Amino acid sequence: MKTKLLSGSAEDISAAAELIKKGYVVGIPTETVYGLGADALNEQAVRAVFAAKCRPADNPLIVHIADFSQAIKYAKNIPDLAYTLAEKFCPGPLTMILQKRDIIPSVTSGGLDTVGIRVPSHDVMHKIIVESGCPIAAPSANLSGLPSPTCAEHVMDDMDNRIVAVLDGGSSEFGVESTVISFEGKDTVRILRPGAVTQEMLLEVCREVLIDPAVLKELEAEQVAASPGMKYIHYSPKANVIVVEGDTNAFKNFISHQNGKNVYSLIYDRESKGFEYNHMTYGNTSEEQAHLLFQRLRELDEAGAETVYVRPPSKEGVGLAVYNRLIRAAGFEVIRV
Ligand code: AMP
Ligand code: MG
Repeated sequence: MKTKLLSGSAEDISAAAELIKKGYVVGIPTETVYGLGADALNEQAVRAVFAAKCRPADNPLIVHIADFSQAIKYAKNIPDLAYTLAEKFCPGPLTMILQKRDIIPSVTSGGLDTVGIRVPSHDVMHKIIVESGCPIAAPSANLSGLPSPTCAEHVMDDMDNRIVAVLDGGSSEFGVESTVISFEGKDTVRILRPGAVTQEMLLEVCREVLIDPAVLKELEAEQVAASPGMKYIHYSPKANVIVVEGDTNAFKNFISHQNGKNVYSLIYDRESKGFEYNHMTYGNTSEEQAHLLFQRLRELDEAGAETVYVRPPSKEGVGLAVYNRLIRAAGFEVIRV
């Protein structure tokens, strides 16, 4: 099946919605990363999503809806706090884990009795949900394990001949996947996966915002992941990625001892001047780093990088999301200099 590239025209948006309604899988833009969209209520379509990206069957899909008022169709016992959060953060990059209703097939929820619900803000994605009339299950549109796609071309690189179509809606605004939270008690949430809705932002509404241990470190063999996706090696390019903690000078000194033409560094823009070794940069602020990280990991592969030493982001704000993706891309290989 040759994958068709659709534009963001009204006609092509309707075509994408029609394909999803008919049970096909389509690559679609969102404000976080590109997704592989399918009708969340159609078991066969959802199975095709898992197959297209070779995703383990126990890693649940997030269900995207047009407005949080529709969450009640797919979830039950929705806490008041979820509605308060929705008022502030929906539409946007926040996924709430809720108790699922039977209408959500178990293949969509990876066998769990909960479902992740999100209301995306991307205009094209919103139109596709409305026009298709379906809640849309959409995991990131990469092959499982690879960096998430932040533009239509990345989706084509991974999915050409695997799905019917990809809709080009431009480059993803945030560049990292949504913040995933679960509810604990009346006014407490737990961040299972950090994203652009940060702990600080959630604290404006919640009394307590816990950060799941799996966010910042590898789970022990016997630990159960609250978010199944967090137990898999993820976001990894072909190159061997290693996070190097330390300041600019210590990093430079360390790199000066790592030779070889396929050794690269991924550093901040402001460190590039006079940096005499192979490198790419990924912005200065955490927002820029979120926007650029996955793209740079793909570009480093294209450049033939075999080993990539990375200057990690701050863990503040959206930096926590960048750090979370980076240590997974590195298979948790972190060295301190
Ligand atoms: P992706 O679809 O690639 O953005 O990944 C979705 C993430 O959300 C994965 O880490 C999933 O494990 C997580 N997720 C989705 N649904 C649930 C759920 N019901 N409970 C816990 N985590 C979930
Ligand atoms: Mg993913």
